[in-house]
Amino acid sequence: MSIKVSNVIKNYDKEAALKGIELNIKKGELVALLGPSGSGKTTLLRIIAGLENPDDGEIFFEEQDVANLEVKERNVGFVFQHYALFQNMTVFDNIAFGLTVRPRATRPTKNKINEKVTELLRLVKLESFANRFPSQLSGGQRQRVALARALAVEPNVLLLDEPFGALDAKVRKDLRRWLRKLHDEIQITSIFVTHDQEEALEVADRVVIMNQGTIEQIGTPEEVYHSPASPFVYDFLGKVNLFHGRINKGNLISGGLEIPLPELEEKDHKEVTGYVRPHQITIEKFETNQTSISAIVTHIHAVGPIVYVEVLREDTNEYVEIELMNDLFYELDIQLGERVFVRPNELKVFIPQDYSI
Ligand code: ADP
Ligand code: MG
Repeated sequence: MSIKVSNVIKNYDKEAALKGIELNIKKGELVALLGPSGSGKTTLLRIIAGLENPDDGEIFFEEQDVANLEVKERNVGFVFQHYALFQNMTVFDNIAFGLTVRPRATRPTKNKINEKVTELLRLVKLESFANRFPSQLSGGQRQRVALARALAVEPNVLLLDEPFGALDAKVRKDLRRWLRKLHDEIQITSIFVTHDQEEALEVADRVVIMNQGTIEQIGTPEEVYHSPASPFVYDFLGKVNLFHGRINKGNLISGGLEIPLPELEEKDHKEVTGYVRPHQITIEKFETNQTSISAIVTHIHAVGPIVYVEVLREDTNEYVEIELMNDLFYELDIQLGERVFVRPNELKVFIPQDYSI
């Protein structure tokens, strides 16, 4: 079922939580709402579910305006961070719950419920746990039960609010891959809220980046990561080095660096910032390129396939963080405390007042 959010506004005590949200979600899509704490993700999710009313704006499920539909009538499945499983019921009964409480006229037969729960247990890979109680499960297993329970009633839409937020890093990683596979299998329109950029980028078909009640950018993980629409998105999605400077005749002048930016043509701007990810910087032992600047190696972290090197620019006294492949690092033979030469090989400039270039 497709979802359309149109000009949704929500204020709490005159504080704006959502400032005119526009969002279209396609049928079968898995969309992540990503943003820092307080950016309005949960509020938007609750309004879509019908748990909260917007002050203005509209929500459509397919062609239907759902303003006057209650939570139940919207038929959404929910999973929250804190799994609210029934402690005195087995896994099986927890999953069956939504079906067993239906009025007799719409309640499936006992056999049908059995079939459905068995199928869901297989889907969430808990076939052998049907008779356990929630207290006998790990956190990750409980969240999978919560998901199966949400799916049992065959919802039109699945809403997940930081479902893995309370779990440790390793389990989170496993579960996000599992969720991606599960979604490929069942293809239910889903909205996944998280403040973890890695999680959003790995799981979602499209990512919606929220900041202070507005949407900063909507795009595929590749689009938002490689073409961030604003400094906020750039900063939020990964590590970044800032090269402060000015634009002079289409060149960024930052300390001793002069980087041609042909897309800026002949424009001049004071006070701009160039954004460069740590892997977009070339590091060399000898000056082979006029556009490099000298820097001193202040830190090396060489565990794993990617090596992190921190250097101190000699022109501006600013730190620059660099990531390079392990084999290149050993080939270059970079030592702590020595002088190296660095230059950005890709750089994104946002001109103030006008984030496009
Ligand atoms: P997120 O889920 O992104 O962390 P929320 O949607 O929970 O953000 O909150 C957005 C803003 O709305 C925050 O400033 C929060 O304090 C405020 N807010 C959320 N719910 C309420 C509420 N029930 N009463 C008052 N303020 C609220
Ligand atoms: Mg929240």
